Amino acid sequence: MNYRAPRGTYDILPEDQAHWRHVTETTRRVCELFGYEQIDVPVFEQTGLFERSVGESTDIVEKEMYTFLDRNEERMTLRPEFTAGICRAYAERKLHGRPQPLRLFTIGPAFRYERPQAGRYRQFYQIDVEVLGSQDPAIDLEVMQVAWQIYEAVGIKNLSFQVNSTGCPVCRPGYVEKLRAWYADRLDGICADCARRYEQNPLRLLDCKKEACRAIADEAPRIADSLCDECRTHFDRLRSYLDDLGRPYEVNHRLVRGFDYYTKTVFEVWAEGIGAQNAVCGGGRYDGLIGMVGGPETPAIGFASGIERIILTMKQEGIEPPGVPKPRVFVAYLGAEAKSAAVVLAQELRAAGVGATALWEDRSLKAQMRQADRLGAAYTLIIGEEEVRNGVVMIRRMADSTQASVPRSEAVAAVKEGNTQ
Ligand code: AMP
Repeated sequence: MNYRAPRGTYDILPEDQAHWRHVTETTRRVCELFGYEQIDVPVFEQTGLFERSVGESTDIVEKEMYTFLDRNEERMTLRPEFTAGICRAYAERKLHGRPQPLRLFTIGPAFRYERPQAGRYRQFYQIDVEVLGSQDPAIDLEVMQVAWQIYEAVGIKNLSFQVNSTGCPVCRPGYVEKLRAWYADRLDGICADCARRYEQNPLRLLDCKKEACRAIADEAPRIADSLCDECRTHFDRLRSYLDDLGRPYEVNHRLVRGFDYYTKTVFEVWAEGIGAQNAVCGGGRYDGLIGMVGGPETPAIGFASGIERIILTMKQEGIEPPGVPKPRVFVAYLGAEAKSAAVVLAQELRAAGVGATALWEDRSLKAQMRQADRLGAAYTLIIGEEEVRNGVVMIRRMADSTQASVPRSEAVAAVKEGNTQ
């Protein structure tokens, strides 16, 4: 039987890790620069949490969740996103008792049963950033700045920031009615998916990707013209902060996003040239969600960014990540006695904080040197029977193939300090 990775999943091989490390380490550094603390929540939760928070009539809940009955017959779902789990933790672990706002980030896999294609997977990795306990538009700006700074620090340049407001329970219902009335005369021109959206989730009519539907949506009434005073003031303030920062952004009236929980601000970041799946980041404000999952009414905002799409964009822009550290020293030996000495030497090196590896397969010196080269070691320490007898070690500097014999007692310090001649 030949097993294969499930459709829509992939392996992150050693040679792929430099990109991954660059993105995850940069994310940690930037988040901490802004004072965000890391949180980790379970990979699976009770199904009801996602049904309730993401929304019953969303694509995710309707057809994309990995849901199963556990051995106790409880319905569980692999997380399709992070916000619901973080809000559940906020309510359950009483994180609202801590100084607010709470600034959090997390990094990990999420799961959606989608049709796989470039940049779209069934197991994918997200960076997720959330601020809970503040309704100030300056926090909306800050969250967007975190995203901005992560991409900038990773080295990505050609990004476009899209912003919109989706209103709140006060003003949105009126807008949805307006939208429905406007679409009532245009049902012949929209796709089958949109016909369904018209019935179940009319806001989503605005973000259909099909050309004909987009043309219609472009002409549709704009939510910006239907916002209540509070939502309008909030959106105006956010835009004026964005203007003050001088970062380019676009107000996109068709941006609504695929979750029911959003209120007020929504935003996305798009990258050119990575194909149809060009959103590297999506987020927004969800002032009603924590109350919905059993916590106190708490305003909050966050975003998630797909790591695969960040890496695709890096590759597209020719950004080379820093290399992953390699062992500094390769230990080569010849003969049984030398092997015992090599085992001890390798451990001494590691204890001194110097990366060390060996083949341990009793191969020729030539084969061992080839391995040292392949691994990119800076030095090879060679021990033969004669070196054991004389209490010395041969040090070979790989960059210029120079060799020197040093007393065994000085070998570790010599390679650690790079002082081998
Ligand atoms: P969403 O949670 O749908 O708002 O998505 C947030 C971000 O996660 C998107 O902008 C993508 O970068 C990424 N993303 C969402 N779904 C997938 C997927 N199936 N495969 C890869 N990345 C994804």
